[in-house]
Amino acid sequence: MKKCVQCGSPKMNGSMEKYRVLIGRDKHVTRVPAVRCDDCGESYLNGEDVQAAELEIAAKLVSKPNMSGPEHRYCRHVTGWQLDQTARAYGTDRENLRAIETDERRVPKRYRVHVAKLVKQALRKVKTTLP
Ligand SMILES: [Zn+2]
Repeated sequence: MKKCVQCGSPKMNGSMEKYRVLIGRDKHVTRVPAVRCDDCGESYLNGEDVQAAELEIAAKLVSKPNMSGPEHRYCRHVTGWQLDQTARAYGTDRENLRAIETDERRVPKRYRVHVAKLVKQALRKVKTTLP
């Protein structure tokens, strides 16, 4: 990026920016490489770096002994799994999976194990703009 899209300034520099995600009631913060405009402060993130940051958060979630419904939904979502597809893989239906992901029902252990595998697989494939 040569010029700031926001203000047209050529003073663009690499930086690390905070990246925040709200999962259920919990705020998660990590940092992502970005290009920042020295004049207006606007920062620009790369899609691959955002995906890497989201997977980093997901990796923390799947390493916990328990998982909330919204955390399961987040991990499923960042690994690209749709609700219907995941419900089929679990041998259940979308209504049940939705109830689980909205904390109406507990997340079964085998669901946590499955989504942890998805996150680990996705982490192996992740690319970033970091050297
Ligand atoms: Zn600017």
